[in-house]
Amino acid sequence: MVEQLYTKVCIIGSGPAAHTAAIYTARAELAPILFEGFMANGIAAGGQLTTTTDVENFPGFPEGILGVELTNRFRDQSARFGTKIFSETVENVDFSKRPFTVRTSEKEVKAETVIIATGAVAKRMEFPGSGEEGGYWNKGISACAVCDGAAPIFRNKPIAVIGGGDSAMEEANFLTKYGSKVYIIHRRDTFRASKIMQKRAFDNPKIEVLWNSVVEEAYGSARGLLGGVKLRNVVTNEVRDLELAGLFFAIGHQPATAFLGGQLTLDEDGYIATTPGSTTTNIPGVFAAGDVQDKKWRQAITAAGSGCMAALEAEHFISAHPLPDGEGEAAAVAETNGKL
Ligand code: FAD
Ligand code: NDP
Repeated sequence: MVEQLYTKVCIIGSGPAAHTAAIYTARAELAPILFEGFMANGIAAGGQLTTTTDVENFPGFPEGILGVELTNRFRDQSARFGTKIFSETVENVDFSKRPFTVRTSEKEVKAETVIIATGAVAKRMEFPGSGEEGGYWNKGISACAVCDGAAPIFRNKPIAVIGGGDSAMEEANFLTKYGSKVYIIHRRDTFRASKIMQKRAFDNPKIEVLWNSVVEEAYGSARGLLGGVKLRNVVTNEVRDLELAGLFFAIGHQPATAFLGGQLTLDEDGYIATTPGSTTTNIPGVFAAGDVQDKKWRQAITAAGSGCMAALEAEHFISAHPLPDGEGEAAAVAETNGKL
């Protein structure tokens, strides 16, 4: 039987945005319910940080901290203030009226406000040598230059970024701080990136663009790390070796919004549209925080910051928009009793 619950705030997600929202709303005595997911989007509860090793740019950890340990600490802090955490994936929602409805396979929650913090997944490419098993993922291949670019294995070595959007331009420029040279490998002969970002890349003497090129295979070095790639020119079909210590995918992200069933406005890239400088969505009382609404910064600390904003905005919203008698908790309980 599906369990029925009522809450002032239901938080969906389990990364820094979700847990920051939980810490703030729990301390505000709003008794939040948080669904952390069960391998939602193929990622363990805790979010993207569970897929990395050392996190060195989250303040408060001068020695760095393992991504999994950091997410465990977020979770412990949420729980300490009374957040009810369920390891279930939200399957669908109904935002047509307040209180909103959030459903998993085991629960139906009526919620006065909802904070969506389901994150995003960096798109990865698949070719021989690109994966974890027998390949060079995390041994030179990555999908996050800001996170991994400073690793010693890339220092003064050739690095490449795949992609032709703003992320590729930004990451290539960033990586010139570390690499001896940075190639941008792009499958076409023009970039879709904004002109200003393209110009920065073209003006950087350490960057070389390899147009009309695709990676066919990655191979190793004597140390068992990435050593280089087979690169094919899609116009001439010529295949050549490119020596590389690092290869960064910058081919876009996939925000986790499928469970919303089209009930929130998304932008042209599929991210939840929020009011600039705020976490409000097109539905009053529904807020979005973290990477699911942020295609630009995509960092743990920015996700946490927007989780804090969402919590404070939800708290203000609840005070300013109390549900009338007959529509709040008592009504939901009565409806539940009717179903039992
Ligand atoms: P996410 O971390 O994306 O987590 C959201 C989680 O919510 C999902 O993973 C899933 O578990 C859960 N979820 C999704 N859908 C549902 C659902 N329907 N129901 C219930 N639960 C659901 N940033 C840094 O600042 N420093 C770093 O060093 C760093 N390293 C990184 C290394 C890698 C390999 C990657 C991929 C990212 C890295 N990042 C780093 C970026 C950082 O991880 C993200 O910006 C941050 O985790 C985004 O947080 P978030 O709260 O938006 O959600
Ligand atoms: P985009 O979707 O804009 O670009 C992805 C790039 O990857 C495209 O050039 C695409 O090629 C290429 N690509 C996609 N799939 C493959 C594949 N399988 N093989 C090879 N290449 C592939 O993603 P971004 O992350 O760059 O940007 C997303 C959004 O975030 C944009 O709106 C961007 O403006 C914004 N952004 C802004 C920043 C800023 O202003 N500083 C920084 C970062 C992002 P093709 O062009 O051929 O389709």
